[in-house]
Amino acid sequence: MSFPDENPRVPDHINNSHESPVVDFLLMAAGLLAFIVFISFAIGWSASWLGPKIPYAWEPNISLGQDDLSEDDREIQAYLTKLTERLASHSEHVFPVTVHWLPDMEVTNAFATSGGHIHVTRGLLNAVSSENGLAMVLAHEYAHIELRHPAVLMLEQIGHTILYLALGLGDSGAGSLAQNTGTLSFMSFSRDMERAADERAIALLKNEYGHTEGASELFQGLLKKEDADALPLQTIQSWWQSHPATLERIKAIEAHNTELKSEAQKKDGRFNQEPRPLPAWLLDALSTPKS
Ligand SMILES: [Zn+2]
Repeated sequence: MSFPDENPRVPDHINNSHESPVVDFLLMAAGLLAFIVFISFAIGWSASWLGPKIPYAWEPNISLGQDDLSEDDREIQAYLTKLTERLASHSEHVFPVTVHWLPDMEVTNAFATSGGHIHVTRGLLNAVSSENGLAMVLAHEYAHIELRHPAVLMLEQIGHTILYLALGLGDSGAGSLAQNTGTLSFMSFSRDMERAADERAIALLKNEYGHTEGASELFQGLLKKEDADALPLQTIQSWWQSHPATLERIKAIEAHNTELKSEAQKKDGRFNQEPRPLPAWLLDALSTPKS
């Protein structure tokens, strides 16, 4: 057997791309990006699948409720709780929830957090005059809980944090993500979640009242505000930012009522459904200046 005297010379074209290194880099970056996008979708999909399967009792309790409510405020909180429970009672499987009245928050807001907590601000109650308008908001928040959106969101955040850590973005990416996994991020549900919660809320309202008259009251009010284009910064960061466009929501609620109206008109030509006003004692309590 004979061996060459020296290692054979490797032809120049082997291991030496004709493309420029910039193109190579861009291809690699695009591949990595596609991989990250794919994994992100996979995390989202797995979280949506797994979230509802996690026992409800396992959801960590996160609430901004106050313990030091005045007697009047406790009465308002009890009223909100009762109305929410009445709406929830139309579900096949009722999830126990805790409703918190936030009398010191003037911003128009309502939100659901992990562990079955629903929060309602003074600004929100001031923005509605009918029980139906309020019921739509409470039913929407209850729907988030029933659909297990806080659990899904939490799993998504855990998944993304792990992905960031795995990509070596530990300090910058995962750090800020981990911070976001606090209370406030539980409010930022996706648009799909918001639509699903609205759909479910409309169904609960139809069960409770037989119609959706007055259900869009809050959104009508918001639309006027949006038209006036005078949203203070505080409200911009608030509830409806993550919610489907206001007009779209009003249309969805009214589409259901249009259906009911045409059915009623076919029957006996009448549709005289009126929204229920909020109880007088509640309006009194709200208009009384806080001591
Ligand atoms: Zn929502």
